Amino acid sequence: MRIDRRLTERLKKVNPSSTLAITAKAKKLKSEGGDVVNLAAGEPDFDTPDFIKNAAIEAINKGFTKYTPTTGIPELKKLICEKFKKDNSLDYQPNQIVVSCGAKHSIFNALFALIGKTDEVLIPSPYWVSYPEMVTLCDGRPYFINTLPKNNFKITAEELERHIDSKTKAIILNSPSNPTGAVYNIEELSQIAKICVENKIFVISDEIYEKLIYDNLKHVSIAGLGEDIYGLTITVNGLSKSFSMTGWRIGYLAGPVDVVEAISKLQDHSTSNPTSISQKAGVAALSAPDDFSRKMCQEFQRRRNYVIERLKQIKKINFTLPQGAFYIFCDISKTRLDSLTFANRLLEETLVALIPGAGFGRDDYIRISFATNLEELEKGMDRIATWLDKL
Ligand code: PMP
Repeated sequence: MRIDRRLTERLKKVNPSSTLAITAKAKKLKSEGGDVVNLAAGEPDFDTPDFIKNAAIEAINKGFTKYTPTTGIPELKKLICEKFKKDNSLDYQPNQIVVSCGAKHSIFNALFALIGKTDEVLIPSPYWVSYPEMVTLCDGRPYFINTLPKNNFKITAEELERHIDSKTKAIILNSPSNPTGAVYNIEELSQIAKICVENKIFVISDEIYEKLIYDNLKHVSIAGLGEDIYGLTITVNGLSKSFSMTGWRIGYLAGPVDVVEAISKLQDHSTSNPTSISQKAGVAALSAPDDFSRKMCQEFQRRRNYVIERLKQIKKINFTLPQGAFYIFCDISKTRLDSLTFANRLLEETLVALIPGAGFGRDDYIRISFATNLEELEKGMDRIATWLDKL
């Protein structure tokens, strides 16, 4: 077989994850004994709560280790419906839910069900690294809507309308956002919903950071803003960030029955059910009061405030206040370095790891994660400040 025919065109077009390269380098330096400060983390640094771990251990001991229904066990799906009702005022029935191996898997499933050749998907930029690549994997075309720091990195309804053409099939919204921490309010989402309904555009609403919102703001689910937008929205969420369960791989989506049925067919013939043991852990997580995520959120807000105070003292960096998630997206254009050079040099010269903005669509930005303890944040910010002073 000719070498150029070994891989599909589809995969040749996909870029490797830019966040992984720098984290691999940081890990290597650490394994060699370097005092690396990790400001690159994409997951909470808290341990999964014991009551969740114990539910999984019990599942193993009781032999709950076999295939389950593809879309998830009924008790978990029922709890997910209750969660949507309680937290988001959304009415979903169990036949509208698919539990998958993480929200990432749920988003991929949704795109695979909705997007084919010639379909365009609107993605507000900066964006989470995987969105455009997933669209490409589904043979669709990502189409970016650039957002500005002065608008807190949020699109407006007018901007959305301007970017819609006959090929536009869907938009991916992410509130709170990775990497910018932007949080859309009810007015903004209502206006966006109106445009989506008028143009019959699906919304894939990635709400994975829902529980990490600061300054007493309230998370809004776009699907709750009327019957018409409800019928066009796939709401995605999961346990990774809210219960510090990134490794357990439980995410879920909810949407119109026909779309959900198509997605369950896809999952039937690809991964089947998410891990039986993790599903039981999920049952424990969603049966408990919200204390864990509330405490985690308070701690993240404390850390965010600390890093922001430090950033205010650094003249070569500008930033926009994140209102959710655990990242600060920082403008480094005053340094005249591109984001990869900035991140690589910072790591090599000071042993501080952070993520270059290029993978999120902005090469003049870097992403600082505050999913690490205050002591490390202090050390990291000290090193960044000293390094930038000398630059
Ligand atoms: N969406 C966003 C915006 C994320 O940042 C992440 C994780 N980094 C995910 C989805 C995927 O989460 P999960 O672990 O549930 O696949």
